Amino acid sequence: MTKGELLYEGKAKMVYETDDPNKLLVYFKDDATAGNGEKKGTIQDKGIINNKISTFFFKLLKTHGIESHFIEQVSDREMLVKMLKMLSLEVVVRNVAAGGLARRLALEEGTILKIPVIEYTYKNDDLGDPMLNRYHIMALDIARVHELDEIEHIAFTVNTVLKNFLRAKNVDLIDFKLEFGRDERDKIVLADEISPDNCRFWDMTTKEKLDKDRFRLDMGGVEEAYKELLTRLIA
Ligand code: ADP
Ligand code: UDP
Repeated sequence: MTKGELLYEGKAKMVYETDDPNKLLVYFKDDATAGNGEKKGTIQDKGIINNKISTFFFKLLKTHGIESHFIEQVSDREMLVKMLKMLSLEVVVRNVAAGGLARRLALEEGTILKIPVIEYTYKNDDLGDPMLNRYHIMALDIARVHELDEIEHIAFTVNTVLKNFLRAKNVDLIDFKLEFGRDERDKIVLADEISPDNCRFWDMTTKEKLDKDRFRLDMGGVEEAYKELLTRLIA
């Protein structure tokens, strides 16, 4: 496999062509942003840790029958993936109120939700990723009803698998964001990454945050938190 042209540089990753037209190389950077790019910084070794954590979670999901774009980890910061036509959607699953939901509904952070909640946002930085419901998504032709059913099925299954796995590591899965794309046969496939950049992980006993909120909220100990999560996963 050889690395080709840079196709896209995002906030946290760079995406390269490869000699196989159906495969992409994803390079994980140390750059971090928050508040739709308003806050910028770097988290030392984040790219290496997030590549490892994402690899770990995609492999774990595979053992539970959930396919993803993941093919293999090829270096410290690089992952080979299946090329997909991405949907302009962010799919958030929440078990506990935090962040945007806690603010919007004036819920105390840490309030346990009676059932897991799914939310969609339009992946569009210029508009500030506004929230969408299933009707907006179908009206804008972002996805069709059977695709949304499939996305919700995968998202809730991911939630169950990760929540159960993390419980044994004394970690609570508060919420997380997923992205999906269509493969060459238009099948919906889980993509992007699963890491402390796009999930909230709290220590079950101390409620200590082991995720990007430490960066968003200037709490310090960011690198240490990412490393601690990785250590617990592989322990
Ligand atoms: P952003 O675009 O939000 O700044 P990143 O820096 O994480 O995000 O860039 C990675 C980009 O790659 C994202 O736009 C994401 O939607 C896209 N992507 C993730 N997985 C795939 C895939 N399998 N095929 C094509 N694009 C992908
Ligand atoms: N999230 C993300 N990217 C975003 C917005 C949110 O990965 O652009 C993740 C975030 O890490 C958290 C979950 O989605 O795990 C919900 O985040 P939050 O409540 O802050 O989202 P908001 O509603 O404020 O966009």
